[in-house]
Amino acid sequence: MPLILDGKKINSEIKQDLSTHIAIALADGFVRPCLSIIQIGNTKESTKYIEHKKKFGHAIGVEVLHIHLPDSITTAEVLAEINSLNTDETVHGIIIQLPLPKHIDRDVIVEAVSAEKDVDGLSSKNIRGLWTNDKGYILPATARAILTMLDYYDIDVSGKKVVVIGRSTLVGKPVALALMNRGATVTVCHSGTLKLADHTLEADIVISAVGFPRLITKHFVRPHQVIIDVGTTFIKDEEVDKIHGDVDFKDVSDIVSAISPVPGGVGPLTVSSLFQNVYDAYVRKIHKK
Ligand code: NAD
Repeated sequence: MPLILDGKKINSEIKQDLSTHIAIALADGFVRPCLSIIQIGNTKESTKYIEHKKKFGHAIGVEVLHIHLPDSITTAEVLAEINSLNTDETVHGIIIQLPLPKHIDRDVIVEAVSAEKDVDGLSSKNIRGLWTNDKGYILPATARAILTMLDYYDIDVSGKKVVVIGRSTLVGKPVALALMNRGATVTVCHSGTLKLADHTLEADIVISAVGFPRLITKHFVRPHQVIIDVGTTFIKDEEVDKIHGDVDFKDVSDIVSAISPVPGGVGPLTVSSLFQNVYDAYVRKIHKK
């Protein structure tokens, strides 16, 4: 059996660690950390993700302010809301829950969040920090989760060949850049890549962020590889939604040396990574004073 990269276990350790640090800050007389989440409209998925974030935040002592705006709101009105949160001293992190309704200008909205409070790491200042490898930029949570998982199991990426499958702004690109910043030789594959297996078979580490169940079978892997499965696809099985990763776990697990499962891998770590971003923003703020 390969080493199972256990996101649940790391998540619960991070949760405990954040709770302890926040309790200490509160006991020292600092304000409570606060994350604001702006939701526009009533997308069921968004509501579910927000509930999950609220639950995690409350469990560790972060106040989560859910600002639920109607679908009919204009870009200008959302901007006014963001500006008020940007200047609010008691708010340390701001999330714009995506996707946004079509009539709202996503780029303008995302860019309006002040870089210090942009805990999703999507504003141009944070993206520039990632490009230039500056200190102190905020990395999107899923990319941070992947780095945390590698660090936890002492998997050094420096000098390694890493194949990232997926080139999205939220996952593929940021994780590829972050790994390059750490000295990995990174190849990014995507829907236009021909002969995907030729690339994955060359890699020491394969990170798949596609959303296509069983894309990665035994024909794509070789011994001694580390496989990180970011993909999540829900498929109904006897009326129950079952989550599937991109990797055919059974097919590859006798071959590779380490693998993150779905569920229980990157997923649980993404929320704790988001709250690590919130905590970091909070600490930077209280130390500025
Ligand atoms: P996306 O749809 O924006 O990007 C998917 C990427 O896969 C694209 O860049 C596309 O070029 C590539 N792709 C599509 N088909 C391909 C193929 N046949 N071969 C190679 N590449 C192909 O999605 P995303 O937001 O980057 O998310 C990717 C997956 O990760 C989804 O399943 C999503 O649900 C999941 N996800 C999980 C977490 C988590 O916490 N576990 C967080 C974010 C995203």
